[in-house]
Amino acid sequence: MLIPIPLHDEFYKGHVGRIQTLNSLPDYQRTNYDIRNLARSKGAPREGEPTIVSLARLCQIPLEEYLQFNTLLPYHSFYQHKKSHVSDMRWSTGTISRCGTLPCRSAYYCEQCVRGDLRRHGFSYWRRIHQLPGMMWCLKHRSPLREYTAAFPFDVLPDKVINRFGKSAQQGSSPLAVRRFLEISALLLEQRKLITESDFKLRLNKLARSVNLRVSQRGSRLLPSDVAMKVFPSDWLVSVFPRIRGKQYAEYFPAIDAVTRVSSWNSATAGFIIVLSILFDRADDAIAWLFDDSPARISLPLQSIE
Ligand SMILES: [Zn+2]
Repeated sequence: MLIPIPLHDEFYKGHVGRIQTLNSLPDYQRTNYDIRNLARSKGAPREGEPTIVSLARLCQIPLEEYLQFNTLLPYHSFYQHKKSHVSDMRWSTGTISRCGTLPCRSAYYCEQCVRGDLRRHGFSYWRRIHQLPGMMWCLKHRSPLREYTAAFPFDVLPDKVINRFGKSAQQGSSPLAVRRFLEISALLLEQRKLITESDFKLRLNKLARSVNLRVSQRGSRLLPSDVAMKVFPSDWLVSVFPRIRGKQYAEYFPAIDAVTRVSSWNSATAGFIIVLSILFDRADDAIAWLFDDSPARISLPLQSIE
Protein backbone atom coordinates (compact mmCIF):
# COMPACT_ATOMS: atom_id res chain seq x y z
CA MET A 1 0.00 0.00 0.00
CA LEU A 2 1.38 3.39 -0.99
CA ILE A 3 1.23 6.06 1.74
CA PRO A 4 2.38 9.44 0.41
CA ILE A 5 3.67 12.06 2.84
CA PRO A 6 1.12 14.89 3.12
CA LEU A 7 1.97 18.28 1.68
CA HIS A 8 1.96 21.38 3.85
CA ASP A 9 -1.69 22.40 4.32
CA GLU A 10 -3.02 19.29 2.58
CA PHE A 11 -6.38 18.62 4.25
CA TYR A 12 -6.50 15.36 6.21
CA LYS A 13 -9.58 14.01 4.42
CA GLY A 14 -8.02 14.87 1.08
CA HIS A 15 -4.84 13.07 2.10
CA VAL A 16 -6.91 9.95 2.80
CA GLY A 17 -8.64 10.48 -0.58
CA ARG A 18 -5.27 10.69 -2.34
CA ILE A 19 -4.23 7.40 -0.70
CA GLN A 20 -7.49 5.90 -1.95
CA THR A 21 -6.78 7.09 -5.52
CA LEU A 22 -3.13 5.99 -5.49
CA ASN A 23 -4.05 2.51 -4.28
CA SER A 24 -7.23 2.18 -6.39
CA LEU A 25 -9.32 1.48 -3.30
CA PRO A 26 -13.11 1.42 -3.72
CA ASP A 27 -14.18 3.94 -1.09
CA TYR A 28 -13.35 6.14 1.88
CA GLN A 29 -14.32 3.57 4.55
CA ARG A 30 -12.17 0.87 2.98
CA THR A 31 -9.23 3.27 2.77
CA ASN A 32 -9.60 4.14 6.47
CA TYR A 33 -9.81 0.45 7.33
CA ASP A 34 -6.69 -0.40 5.29
CA ILE A 35 -4.72 2.47 6.85
CA ARG A 36 -5.53 1.26 10.37
CA ASN A 37 -4.73 -2.33 9.43
CA LEU A 38 -1.38 -1.41 7.93
CA ALA A 39 -0.50 0.60 11.06
CA ARG A 40 -1.39 -2.39 13.25
CA SER A 41 0.81 -4.67 11.17
CA LYS A 42 3.64 -2.22 11.85
CA GLY A 43 3.20 -2.24 15.60
CA ALA A 44 0.32 0.14 16.38
CA PRO A 45 -1.89 -0.86 19.34
CA ARG A 46 -4.50 -3.40 18.28
CA GLU A 47 -7.58 -1.63 19.58
CA GLY A 48 -9.28 1.59 18.75
CA GLU A 49 -6.59 3.75 17.25
CA PRO A 50 -8.26 6.49 15.16
CA THR A 51 -7.27 6.52 11.48
CA ILE A 52 -5.66 9.93 11.84
CA VAL A 53 -3.27 8.61 14.51
CA SER A 54 -2.43 5.57 12.33
CA LEU A 55 -1.85 7.78 9.33
CA ALA A 56 0.57 10.12 11.15
CA ARG A 57 2.38 7.01 12.43
CA LEU A 58 2.69 5.52 8.93
CA CYS A 59 4.00 8.83 7.55
CA GLN A 60 6.45 8.96 10.47
CA ILE A 61 5.24 12.44 11.36
CA PRO A 62 4.68 13.34 15.04
CA LEU A 63 0.91 13.33 15.58
CA GLU A 64 0.88 16.91 16.82
CA GLU A 65 2.63 18.09 13.63
CA TYR A 66 0.11 16.26 11.49
CA LEU A 67 -2.78 17.83 13.41
CA GLN A 68 -1.13 21.24 13.25
CA PHE A 69 -0.62 21.33 9.47
CA ASN A 70 -3.25 19.00 8.03
CA THR A 71 -6.41 19.42 10.10
CA LEU A 72 -8.64 22.31 11.14
CA LEU A 73 -7.94 21.70 14.85
CA PRO A 74 -5.69 24.77 15.21
CA TYR A 75 -8.75 26.75 14.07
CA HIS A 76 -11.59 24.97 15.85
CA SER A 77 -9.65 24.40 19.10
CA PHE A 78 -7.35 27.40 19.38
CA TYR A 79 -7.89 27.68 23.12
CA GLN A 80 -8.07 25.41 26.11
CA HIS A 81 -10.89 25.56 28.61
CA LYS A 82 -8.91 25.63 31.84
CA LYS A 83 -5.45 26.71 32.78
CA SER A 84 -5.08 23.65 34.99
CA HIS A 85 -5.29 21.37 31.96
CA VAL A 86 -1.65 20.48 31.40
CA SER A 87 -0.93 17.81 28.89
CA ASP A 88 1.89 16.83 26.56
CA MET A 89 -0.54 17.08 23.69
CA ARG A 90 -2.09 20.35 22.66
CA TRP A 91 -5.41 18.56 22.06
CA SER A 92 -7.17 15.91 24.11
CA THR A 93 -7.57 12.32 22.92
CA GLY A 94 -11.32 12.83 22.54
CA THR A 95 -10.84 15.90 20.36
CA ILE A 96 -8.33 14.04 18.21
CA SER A 97 -10.59 11.01 17.68
CA ARG A 98 -13.51 13.23 16.67
CA CYS A 99 -11.29 15.07 14.22
CA GLY A 100 -12.10 14.09 10.68
CA THR A 101 -15.07 11.93 11.62
CA LEU A 102 -17.72 14.57 11.03
CA PRO A 103 -19.52 14.04 7.73
CA CYS A 104 -18.68 16.65 5.16
CA ARG A 105 -20.51 17.00 1.87
CA SER A 106 -18.76 19.98 0.38
CA ALA A 107 -15.16 20.42 -0.64
CA TYR A 108 -13.75 23.74 -1.84
CA TYR A 109 -10.98 24.43 -4.31
CA CYS A 110 -9.42 27.29 -6.24
CA GLU A 111 -9.02 26.64 -9.96
CA GLN A 112 -5.77 28.57 -10.17
CA CYS A 113 -4.29 26.72 -7.17
CA VAL A 114 -5.27 23.37 -8.73
CA ARG A 115 -3.66 24.23 -12.07
CA GLY A 116 -0.54 25.48 -10.25
CA ASP A 117 -0.32 22.27 -8.21
CA LEU A 118 -0.58 20.14 -11.35
CA ARG A 119 2.35 22.03 -12.84
CA ARG A 120 4.41 22.00 -9.66
CA HIS A 121 3.70 18.55 -8.21
CA GLY A 122 2.16 16.64 -11.09
CA PHE A 123 -1.00 16.13 -9.02
CA SER A 124 -3.55 18.25 -7.23
CA TYR A 125 -4.63 18.12 -3.59
CA TRP A 126 -7.30 19.54 -1.30
CA ARG A 127 -6.01 22.54 0.59
CA ARG A 128 -6.97 22.79 4.23
CA ILE A 129 -7.20 26.58 4.19
CA HIS A 130 -9.96 26.43 1.56
CA GLN A 131 -12.12 24.29 3.85
CA LEU A 132 -12.35 26.96 6.59
CA PRO A 133 -15.82 28.33 7.42
CA GLY A 134 -16.71 31.31 5.24
CA MET A 135 -13.71 30.80 2.97
CA MET A 136 -15.35 31.62 -0.33
CA TRP A 137 -12.29 33.22 -1.91
CA CYS A 138 -8.72 32.09 -2.34
CA LEU A 139 -6.58 34.48 -0.31
CA LYS A 140 -3.64 33.91 -2.64
CA HIS A 141 -5.40 34.45 -5.96
CA ARG A 142 -8.29 36.55 -4.65
CA SER A 143 -10.66 34.58 -6.83
CA PRO A 144 -13.89 32.86 -5.71
CA LEU A 145 -13.53 29.23 -4.61
CA ARG A 146 -15.59 26.50 -6.22
CA GLU A 147 -17.67 24.06 -4.27
CA TYR A 148 -17.83 20.37 -5.10
CA THR A 149 -20.67 18.49 -3.39
CA ALA A 150 -20.85 14.71 -2.97
CA ALA A 151 -21.41 12.11 -0.25
CA PHE A 152 -17.61 11.83 0.15
CA PRO A 153 -16.28 14.81 -1.79
CA PHE A 154 -12.62 14.27 -0.84
CA ASP A 155 -12.63 10.86 -2.53
CA VAL A 156 -11.45 12.40 -5.78
CA LEU A 157 -8.61 14.79 -6.45
CA PRO A 158 -9.64 18.37 -7.28
CA ASP A 159 -8.27 18.28 -10.85
CA LYS A 160 -10.77 15.50 -11.61
CA VAL A 161 -13.74 17.70 -10.78
CA ILE A 162 -12.44 21.02 -12.01
CA ASN A 163 -14.05 21.07 -15.42
CA ARG A 164 -17.15 19.11 -14.61
CA PHE A 165 -18.36 20.25 -11.20
CA GLY A 166 -18.01 23.07 -8.83
CA LYS A 167 -20.28 26.00 -8.63
CA SER A 168 -18.87 29.21 -7.39
CA ALA A 169 -21.06 30.90 -4.79
CA GLN A 170 -19.53 34.34 -5.19
CA GLN A 171 -18.37 36.67 -7.90
CA GLY A 172 -15.61 39.22 -7.97
CA SER A 173 -13.25 39.78 -5.06
CA SER A 174 -14.04 39.53 -1.36
CA PRO A 175 -15.42 42.58 0.49
CA LEU A 176 -12.94 44.15 2.91
CA ALA A 177 -14.55 42.88 6.15
CA VAL A 178 -14.78 39.34 4.76
CA ARG A 179 -11.18 39.49 3.69
CA ARG A 180 -10.15 40.47 7.23
CA PHE A 181 -12.25 37.59 8.60
CA LEU A 182 -10.54 35.17 6.20
CA GLU A 183 -7.08 36.49 6.99
CA ILE A 184 -7.63 36.10 10.75
CA SER A 185 -8.93 32.55 10.11
CA ALA A 186 -5.85 31.72 8.03
CA LEU A 187 -3.48 33.14 10.67
CA LEU A 188 -5.20 31.08 13.38
CA LEU A 189 -4.33 27.92 11.45
CA GLU A 190 -0.64 28.75 11.74
CA GLN A 191 -0.69 29.44 15.50
CA ARG A 192 1.07 27.03 17.79
CA LYS A 193 0.35 28.80 21.07
CA LEU A 194 -2.51 27.75 23.24
CA ILE A 195 -4.49 30.36 25.09
CA THR A 196 -6.87 29.97 28.00
CA GLU A 197 -10.51 30.53 27.17
CA SER A 198 -11.49 32.55 30.25
CA ASP A 199 -8.47 34.86 29.90
CA PHE A 200 -9.07 35.88 26.35
CA LYS A 201 -12.84 36.13 26.79
CA LEU A 202 -12.29 38.56 29.65
CA ARG A 203 -9.96 40.63 27.46
CA LEU A 204 -12.41 40.52 24.57
CA ASN A 205 -15.22 41.57 26.90
CA LYS A 206 -13.18 44.57 28.11
CA LEU A 207 -12.25 45.53 24.57
CA ALA A 208 -15.86 45.35 23.34
CA ARG A 209 -17.03 47.51 26.26
CA SER A 210 -14.27 50.04 25.59
CA VAL A 211 -15.87 50.80 22.21
CA ASN A 212 -19.38 50.82 23.69
CA LEU A 213 -20.53 47.48 22.36
CA ARG A 214 -23.11 45.57 24.38
CA VAL A 215 -21.77 42.42 26.06
CA SER A 216 -24.92 41.43 27.97
CA GLN A 217 -28.23 40.00 26.82
CA ARG A 218 -30.20 43.09 27.83
CA GLY A 219 -29.30 46.69 27.27
CA SER A 220 -29.51 49.46 24.77
CA ARG A 221 -26.02 49.48 23.32
CA LEU A 222 -25.19 48.15 19.90
CA LEU A 223 -24.49 44.40 19.80
CA PRO A 224 -21.51 42.89 17.95
CA SER A 225 -24.04 40.95 15.81
CA ASP A 226 -25.75 44.24 14.84
CA VAL A 227 -22.42 45.59 13.64
CA ALA A 228 -21.73 42.31 11.82
CA MET A 229 -25.00 42.64 9.92
CA LYS A 230 -23.96 46.08 8.75
CA VAL A 231 -20.40 45.34 7.73
CA PHE A 232 -20.62 41.83 6.24
CA PRO A 233 -22.61 41.00 3.09
CA SER A 234 -25.76 39.22 4.23
CA ASP A 235 -25.49 36.18 1.93
CA TRP A 236 -21.97 35.53 3.16
CA LEU A 237 -22.98 36.02 6.83
CA VAL A 238 -25.94 33.64 6.41
CA SER A 239 -23.67 30.99 4.88
CA VAL A 240 -21.53 31.04 8.05
CA PHE A 241 -24.41 31.59 10.53
CA PRO A 242 -27.63 30.29 8.90
CA ARG A 243 -29.75 31.38 11.90
CA ILE A 244 -28.78 35.03 11.61
CA ARG A 245 -31.26 35.32 8.72
CA GLY A 246 -34.18 35.97 11.09
CA LYS A 247 -32.34 38.18 13.57
CA GLN A 248 -33.86 41.57 14.37
CA TYR A 249 -31.87 44.69 15.18
CA ALA A 250 -30.80 44.71 18.89
CA GLU A 251 -31.81 41.07 19.26
CA TYR A 252 -29.15 39.04 21.08
CA PHE A 253 -27.50 36.50 18.79
CA PRO A 254 -25.50 34.06 21.00
CA ALA A 255 -23.23 32.59 18.30
CA ILE A 256 -21.63 36.02 17.94
CA ASP A 257 -22.68 38.05 21.00
CA ALA A 258 -21.92 35.42 23.63
CA VAL A 259 -18.25 35.16 22.71
CA THR A 260 -17.43 37.90 25.21
CA ARG A 261 -19.14 36.03 28.06
CA VAL A 262 -16.82 33.96 30.17
CA SER A 263 -19.71 31.84 31.40
CA SER A 264 -20.83 30.79 27.94
CA TRP A 265 -19.34 27.71 26.43
CA ASN A 266 -19.06 26.05 23.09
CA SER A 267 -18.88 29.27 21.13
CA ALA A 268 -17.82 28.55 17.57
CA THR A 269 -14.53 29.98 16.38
CA ALA A 270 -16.31 31.85 13.57
CA GLY A 271 -18.16 33.92 16.21
CA PHE A 272 -14.89 35.00 17.81
CA ILE A 273 -13.42 35.91 14.46
CA ILE A 274 -16.47 37.98 13.54
CA VAL A 275 -15.99 40.03 16.71
CA LEU A 276 -12.24 40.36 16.11
CA SER A 277 -12.77 41.43 12.53
CA ILE A 278 -15.19 44.19 13.51
CA LEU A 279 -12.87 45.44 16.27
CA PHE A 280 -9.57 45.34 14.41
CA ASP A 281 -8.60 46.92 11.11
CA ARG A 282 -5.80 44.49 10.45
CA ALA A 283 -5.73 40.72 10.82
CA ASP A 284 -2.17 40.59 12.19
CA ASP A 285 -3.05 43.20 14.85
CA ALA A 286 -5.94 40.99 15.98
CA ILE A 287 -3.73 37.91 16.18
CA ALA A 288 -0.94 39.79 17.99
CA TRP A 289 -3.47 41.06 20.53
CA LEU A 290 -4.96 37.59 20.96
CA PHE A 291 -1.79 35.54 21.32
CA ASP A 292 0.95 37.94 22.36
CA ASP A 293 -0.95 40.31 24.61
CA SER A 294 -0.01 43.17 22.29
CA PRO A 295 -1.93 46.40 22.90
CA ALA A 296 -5.21 46.50 21.01
CA ARG A 297 -4.84 48.69 17.93
CA ILE A 298 -8.45 49.28 17.13
CA SER A 299 -9.86 52.18 15.20
CA LEU A 300 -13.42 51.26 14.41
CA PRO A 301 -15.79 54.21 14.03
CA LEU A 302 -18.71 52.38 15.64
CA GLN A 303 -20.78 55.55 16.03
CA SER A 304 -21.10 55.83 12.27
CA ILE A 305 -22.71 52.39 12.14
CA GLU A 306 -25.50 53.12 14.60
ZN1 LIG B 1 -5.79 29.98 -5.33
